[in-house]
Amino acid sequence: MNPDTIVAEATPKGRAGVGVIRLSGPRSQQIAQAICRENPTPRHAYFVKFKAEKDQLIDEGILLFFKGPHSFTGEDVVEFQCHGSPVVIDHLLEACLKAGARLARPGEFSERAFLNDKIDLVQAEAIADLIASGTREAAQAALRSLEGEFSKKIHALVSHLIHLRTFIEATLDFPDEEIEFIESAKVIASLQSILKECEILQAEATQGVLLQEGVNIVIVGRPNAGKSSLLNALAKEDVAIVSDIPGTTRDIVKERIHLRGIPVHILDTAGLCESMDVIEKEGIRRTRAAAQKADALILLVDVRHPEDLEVLQKEHLSEVKALPTLTVFNKLDLDPEVSLRESQDDGSIYLKISAKTGQGLPELETALLNLIGAKANAEGGFIARRRHLHALEQAHQALKRGLAAYQQNQQLELLAEEARLAQEALSSITGEFRANDLLGEIFSSFCIGK
Ligand code: GDP
Repeated sequence: MNPDTIVAEATPKGRAGVGVIRLSGPRSQQIAQAICRENPTPRHAYFVKFKAEKDQLIDEGILLFFKGPHSFTGEDVVEFQCHGSPVVIDHLLEACLKAGARLARPGEFSERAFLNDKIDLVQAEAIADLIASGTREAAQAALRSLEGEFSKKIHALVSHLIHLRTFIEATLDFPDEEIEFIESAKVIASLQSILKECEILQAEATQGVLLQEGVNIVIVGRPNAGKSSLLNALAKEDVAIVSDIPGTTRDIVKERIHLRGIPVHILDTAGLCESMDVIEKEGIRRTRAAAQKADALILLVDVRHPEDLEVLQKEHLSEVKALPTLTVFNKLDLDPEVSLRESQDDGSIYLKISAKTGQGLPELETALLNLIGAKANAEGGFIARRRHLHALEQAHQALKRGLAAYQQNQQLELLAEEARLAQEALSSITGEFRANDLLGEIFSSFCIGK
């Protein structure tokens, strides 16, 4: 149990109806007594006066006490609900510090909950993801992770792996008794089924990461192709300046929208063209830089100038890394009868839309989601992070190596070692196995007071 008692405001900075200050640690109850002149019974609400030294009144409000281990952190926890004034909150925090608490680091409450086995690492991360979620789907998915759905699947996978490892280790311990052919088939079947389970979880976690991170999509096109108009149409509001003077968008407009529940950051960029204007040149440089960081690209071309596409690809995007790309011809309303190829030789898709009338936009949304591998409005998914995906991949690779070693020349020792590595990787997701620096890395990205 940590000897420090920590304190932080749990509500955001600024004025509000109510502000919440939270304490956790062995001196919480004593500090509450010193400030509220009340010896609180756990799980009772008290209307109290918060006082500083020499009986100076700070504010009045509600006092709550949760006796450990029946609290969020597993330690004694106290909550003060005061008026949401930054001055009052600062004064109350100061009184707590004087009474023996110290300021909490970001994420320290959740870290303590983890260290005291109240939640695992996936659940702790889900708290931060729930707070940061930008769409209802992301919030629901974070909640499912917080409720333990993702952890449950990891535990199931680990338990199947342990079962297999026990068998392998036992066989290694009794080398005289050769594995029967039938047993050998059992090992292979069991490994294959674990690999399959791992792959299903990887696919689910990939969706979870999309919900957690969102995707970056860059719209690139020549000036006046309708990039800003498309951004506005996708965002369903006016976020970019639209004008028919080429070169209006000189900087990058980043808009967070959601496409059927998936958070998407759309970057509308300066039109790509040879330009002498210094500011516009800078915009073009940024466009290329943004395209480098994007997950997908929309190449937008005026339907009346299909020849622009080749120019764009050849002259401006040749240095950009290969990205999943949608080629979109805009302003279909101006040339409804236009005939274009449906797809390129390399299989990439051509779409025709009108940002003005909205024609073709639903198809564009579907194509975009397919392009980034997202399942729209997926039911029952959980939130996940890149760290989890990486660990799942490590486990998968280890199991594949183990299977190959065993299938090729019955190398049971190698398989045993790979299975151990796979289990370690999986257990790092929930935090049962962890590298020393992992916790600091995870919790430092939390907000203060959580
Ligand atoms: P950008 O320079 O690529 O960002 O282009 P804008 O979005 O500023 O659009 C340039 C001009 O084309 C504006 O006058 C828009 O109203 C017009 N425009 C954009 N999309 C369409 C469309 O689908 N149909 C028609 N008729 N005009 C459009």
